[in-house]
Amino acid sequence: MAYTYDDQNIFAKILRGEIPNTTVRETEHTLAFRDIAPQAPEHILVIPKGTYVTADHFATEASDAEIADFWRTLGEITRELGVAADIGNGYRLIANSGIDGVQDVPHFHMHILAGRKLGPMLMRRD
Ligand code: 5GP
Repeated sequence: MAYTYDDQNIFAKILRGEIPNTTVRETEHTLAFRDIAPQAPEHILVIPKGTYVTADHFATEASDAEIADFWRTLGEITRELGVAADIGNGYRLIANSGIDGVQDVPHFHMHILAGRKLGPMLMRRD
């Protein structure tokens, strides 16, 4: 089954400039901005400008240029924030995907969380 992209999702609106955002970095293929409801002192969302729904959608259908640009941008942000693990205290990446991943916004995005000790990876709820 193929992905269908909903161009009314909130990140599509941000990319079209219909909703404001606090941009951290922008490149040809990638936009990074601050999460509106931060869950750590640093909470950045990194998104491709292309219309990809999930991490697997991006990983399998994006061009090499888009994928390289995405990861380079993400890496540069961790250095700019001073949280890259060789120069700072590290960070966590999260990409919620689909129903079990509890993805709210159906445009692929990677959360960068940093600035405090983040605790266990998951809370057990079973
Ligand atoms: P998800 O649950 O899909 O992985 O995460 C969606 C994230 O988008 C949430 O952390 C939420 O706070 C953030 N978010 C939702 N709406 C907006 C918005 O209008 N602006 C920004 N900057 N972040 C948003």
